[in-house]
Order: sequence, then C-alpha cells, then structure tokens
Amino acid sequence: MRAITVVPGKKDSADLEEFDAPSESEGGVLVETLAVGVCGTDLEIAAGEYGWAPAGHERLVLGHESIGRVRTAPAGSGLSPGDYVVGIVRRPDPVPCYNCAAGEWDFCRNGQYTEHGIKSLDGFMRQQYRAEPDALVKVDSALGELGVLLEPTSVVAKAWEQAELAGKRATWHPKTAVVTGAGPIGLLAALIGVQKGLDVHVFDQVSEGLKPDLVHALGASYHTGPIENSVDEPDIIIECTGVPGLVFDAIEHIGPGGVVCLTGVSPTGRELSIDAGLVNRSMVLANESVVGSVNANRRHYEQAAEALAKAEKNWLTRLITRRVPMEQFASALERQPEDVKVVIQIAEAG
Ligand SMILES: [Zn+2]
Repeated sequence: MRAITVVPGKKDSADLEEFDAPSESEGGVLVETLAVGVCGTDLEIAAGEYGWAPAGHERLVLGHESIGRVRTAPAGSGLSPGDYVVGIVRRPDPVPCYNCAAGEWDFCRNGQYTEHGIKSLDGFMRQQYRAEPDALVKVDSALGELGVLLEPTSVVAKAWEQAELAGKRATWHPKTAVVTGAGPIGLLAALIGVQKGLDVHVFDQVSEGLKPDLVHALGASYHTGPIENSVDEPDIIIECTGVPGLVFDAIEHIGPGGVVCLTGVSPTGRELSIDAGLVNRSMVLANESVVGSVNANRRHYEQAAEALAKAEKNWLTRLITRRVPMEQFASALERQPEDVKVVIQIAEAG
C-alpha cells in the first residue's frame, strides 16, 4: 500500500512511497483510510521543524486528522465493517502517569505520550491502518467523510469544556463569546459557541471572502481590528491564533469573571512590551481566568461528534476548500491564500 511519509527533522523530505501493510500488532480493527486533513502541525513536520519517527524507524507516516471505514473488526468490539471511524491521535504514555491512567492523555504529565502522525506513532496518510477498538471513535454515517473534521473539532470541544469549567467557579451565565482567528479551529470554535446559544463574534484579518461568509452563515458576527472596537466585556474568548499581540489583547479585554482559553501554539522568541502590573491587577480584581488547552481525550471526540452531527452539512462541506489526491500531496503541504481546510483524498468514498 502507499503512504505519505517524512523523515522528521529533515526539510522537504515528504514522499509518497510503498509502505508495509499494517501489522496485527497495531490493533484488531483494520481501517481503510478515506481522507486526511492537513493542519499547521503537518506543515511544521514537513518543514523539518517538528515530529518524531517511531522507535527504530527513519520515516514517519504523516497525518492525524483522519476519516476511514472499518474493513474488519473483532466480534464484541462495537464496530462493524463499513462503520465510519476516526483514529484518536494521542495515546497514553506507557508508565502511565495518573492522567493517562484515567484516560486523560490530553493532560499527560510526563510527556511520554505518543501521537499518530506526530510523535513516535505512524499517522493516517496511508491506505490502511490498524487500531485497537478503544483508539477509534465512530462517526454518524450521515456525516460520512465530513468526519475528517472530527479531530480539529475535538480540540475546540475541549477548549470550550475547559473555558466552561473555569467559568463555573461561581454562578455564571455567559452570553457573549469572542473567537480570534477564522481558520478551521476558529470556525469550528464558533460553530460550537453558536450551538451553545451564545452571541459569537469572530475576529480575523481578512475583510471579505469565504471566512466572513462562513461566520455569517452560522449566525455569528465577523470583525476585523481590535476586540475593544467591536465587543464589550465578552464572557469567553477562545484564542485560536497564538499571535502574541492577540493573546494579550484577549487577556486585556475579557469581561469580569470571564475566561480566556488559549489554543494557539506561538513561535517562541518574539518579545512584546506589556504592562504586566496592569494585566495582573485587572485579572485579580475581576476574577479573570486564562487557561491553556491542547489536544483532546475520548470525551472530547464524542462531544465533537455530537457537534458535527448537529451542524449543517453544507456549512461543513464549505469548510473543506481543497481536496487533493494522494499523488499531489506536495500541493496540500503548501499553504494557499484561499485555504481553510485542505484534505488529502486517500480513497474515494463508497
Ligand atoms: Zn501520561
């Protein structure tokens, strides 16, 4: 079978190559991959800036945002041939730490977790893979191949959960939410915010085109420019850019008792001048929270599956702006200005 692989740490090493069929030791369920989404992490890995091959291997199969169909599954696994499934990206560390032991690998404490397509486990940009039943999440067949959006949605489902947990320190009736960034993560965060009945405001740099259209189609508001020009004292800010200036803009403008949830991974080494005393003072005096959130555990995948099942299929379809055949993977690994979500088509949907 074929797979898209990279040599982690080596720039421009991505290649489409013949790859061994998945071994039974990878798990009892055989999955045929249909499509795999591309995100910023994949681009970093392809650029040689991130990623680890499995122990004893030079190459890593890329890809962590998958949708596939079960080929064969063991009896009693709860899965049947034809089921649409998504592979959970992160797996618990072998020790395991107490969070991993409790199924909270997204909170792994020792850093020894593994991640398909990123850290020490082959990813999903291959025609078939194997997994244990508990490493797969079943997706509504009505959603079908749009289940490729489940993994990024799981990341924002966790972010919303974390924001709500922080907000519930006291009686809390959030009304207004801000999402910074209208990429796939920001748009999916906005989708969940609207589903929660909040007045959602999305901020991005572009003033026209698909991003504002998708935001308006949700019934949310779209803005460019600083938060304070458009929204007064939001209850929740889901920060999806990791741009240092926007992170502090969010912290500065969150409402009293409000929560800023940070989900963007910033490049390091960029310095910013801030009034640290003012930030501290306003956070303390208004009981504000800032929480970081990364990755997702099974509960978040299940929350994401519910959110996608409730979403308009047409809206989700519009989020996928390019579908690239496996042979043209290189073009999928190059960002284009009109991209929202780019997907590599591994097999044609049946
Ligand atoms: Zn752990």
